[in-house]
Amino acid sequence: MKLVRFDGGRVGLVEGAQVIDITQREGFDPGAWPQTSMVQLIARYADAPSGLARNIDRLPRRALADVHLECPVDWPNKVIAFPANYHAHIEEQKVSKTGLISTFAANGQGFFLKANSSLSGPADPIVLPPLKNRETHHECELAIIIGKGGRDIPLGAALDHIFGYSCLLDLVVRGKEERVMRKSFDTFCPLGPWIVTADEIADPFNIALELRVNGELRQKANTRDLIVDIPNMITMASSTMTLFPGDIIATGTPSGVGPLAAGDRVVSVIGGVGELALDVVEGERGHHPIWDKPAA
Ligand code: MN
Repeated sequence: MKLVRFDGGRVGLVEGAQVIDITQREGFDPGAWPQTSMVQLIARYADAPSGLARNIDRLPRRALADVHLECPVDWPNKVIAFPANYHAHIEEQKVSKTGLISTFAANGQGFFLKANSSLSGPADPIVLPPLKNRETHHECELAIIIGKGGRDIPLGAALDHIFGYSCLLDLVVRGKEERVMRKSFDTFCPLGPWIVTADEIADPFNIALELRVNGELRQKANTRDLIVDIPNMITMASSTMTLFPGDIIATGTPSGVGPLAAGDRVVSVIGGVGELALDVVEGERGHHPIWDKPAA
């Protein structure tokens, strides 16, 4: 199943080329603030996502092409992000008794957070801050959307806590300033175009992702080459913080990051998940004297 937010806070299921509007069935007010409907929906159906598809025959439908898609998770509790997290080359990896690829302690850096307000949707442009001495780089990442929350989630249960997946870009101004500030400009965390429920992903250890800028391939990877794999990311994050339904984990970027410029078209494609195609524009906001010094 694919879940979307659209047309001013409505929630829906994508079926073929249509969106089934479940806003009223679920009792959500699209005009409410803050917009927490998707987080509530995930919490409601975390244990049985197939229930989302019940009694849909009489619900209103719209053509997917005619709706305005919005960021699928508007108001998560947090956006967790892992740093560069891919082996440059395929390496032999040991498979544990549970069948999970074990890469414990392969990466000693841990994770960081991005501001939730940096989230933007699949129809929103990436707005570059007008910083003359700096580059803003794209990082193509698979997003995990947490379903059932928890603390100290064991490795063997980690996949049970995933509600679904989405495409995410982790934008960053290069430099030495605090990472949270460099990665938290508005629109620096595009997400979408939808959430694909976990049952649709046959093998989370074999998801291909790529990113092109103006048609040129910049990043290409597969989750089989993750240094800290998906269960280990959930275990590590939940060792520190309680995870809540709707929390987002950006799973780290492959090699090939590079600068974006106004006028660029960025397209990220993640196998079985979707395609996020975004325009890049230069904005008028974002300047501060802190950015006037050189990046390095
Ligand atoms: Mn990143």
